[in-house]
Amino acid sequence: RLLSLFQFPFGRRLPCDIYWHGVSFHDNDIFSGQVNKFPGMTEMVRKITLSRAVRTMQDLFPLEYNFYPRSWILPEEFSLFVDEVRMMKDGDPSWKPTFIVKPDGGCQGDGIYLIKDPSDIRLTGSIQSRPAVVQEYICKPLLVDKLKFDIRLYVLLKSLEPLEIYIAKDGLSRFCTEPYQEPTLKNLHQVFMHLTNYSLNIHSGNFIHSDNVNTGSKRTFSSILCRLSSKGADVKKLWSDIISLVIKTIIALTPELKVYYQSDIPAGKPGPTCFQILGFDILLMKNLKPMLLEVNANPSMRIEHEQELSPGVFENVPSPVDEEVKVAVIRDTLRLVDPQKKKR
Ligand code: ADP
Repeated sequence: RLLSLFQFPFGRRLPCDIYWHGVSFHDNDIFSGQVNKFPGMTEMVRKITLSRAVRTMQDLFPLEYNFYPRSWILPEEFSLFVDEVRMMKDGDPSWKPTFIVKPDGGCQGDGIYLIKDPSDIRLTGSIQSRPAVVQEYICKPLLVDKLKFDIRLYVLLKSLEPLEIYIAKDGLSRFCTEPYQEPTLKNLHQVFMHLTNYSLNIHSGNFIHSDNVNTGSKRTFSSILCRLSSKGADVKKLWSDIISLVIKTIIALTPELKVYYQSDIPAGKPGPTCFQILGFDILLMKNLKPMLLEVNANPSMRIEHEQELSPGVFENVPSPVDEEVKVAVIRDTLRLVDPQKKKR
């Protein structure tokens, strides 16, 4: 069936079946149809709010929610952080942890650094103006070709009530560009070894743009699964762990998302329904346990990357890996939210 797409850079004039907003839920003049953002989602997945929401559930269901690293919110929990780490070290002198400090509202690895001891936190004046999350650093990630990588999975939250969640079968694996070593005081600052962000590693001389989907610095997740499976790993179990991580994370966000929803789109008043594509960033530990790193409310859907033709001259070229994964995500999302299908 035909799909008519209109862009309204200066504000909308026509009612639509589906509204596709670039950043967040912001148009209060929509009385029907579906919007691709939930009110409050951007706020809920910020580092501090997400940490708080998951931690509330960790307190209630510690075993169910052990897929999220132990975290503290700065500056308010700085002394709690210091005390708890000291207690844990006293209890187990062989525990030699590393911590990762991430400014709230940051993205693309911005402002992130690793420390060995709470006293290394840069508690300068700026920490007051820039709150952060500090969390236990996962020291033993699964490596492929000696490199650390993380997984970006696309999740469609189709409805909050009833809760309907779809997880895309393929995602992206984003690789570091320096061989991984467990953190030591000497290598803590080596971002190309410890941080998997595309936006950082692209600047390393070692970044490899691949023109197929199973080599290079960005690959499909399915290519990793194939490799793991050929080595005898239990890929079915891994998928079921990932699915449960995704569902439990969304459940942790749901109570507050419902409050936002009620306030922006009160029941009984004409308004749109919402859906949203979320980007889940997941790290696999060496033992194949998936750990949640963060949730992105506005994941990039770019299927091109920039290439420097000559110094200072850039051109957008197609990225087959992004295209393979993201086109399917958008296509399946549109099929799932198809208003005609709803009527039928
Ligand atoms: P950003 O929004 O800036 O990308 P992330 O929370 O995704 O922040 O962290 C950036 C990168 O740091 C991740 O992609 C991952 O490679 C690494 N990282 C983050 N948290 C941890 C952790 N607890 N243990 C190990 N590595 C981590």
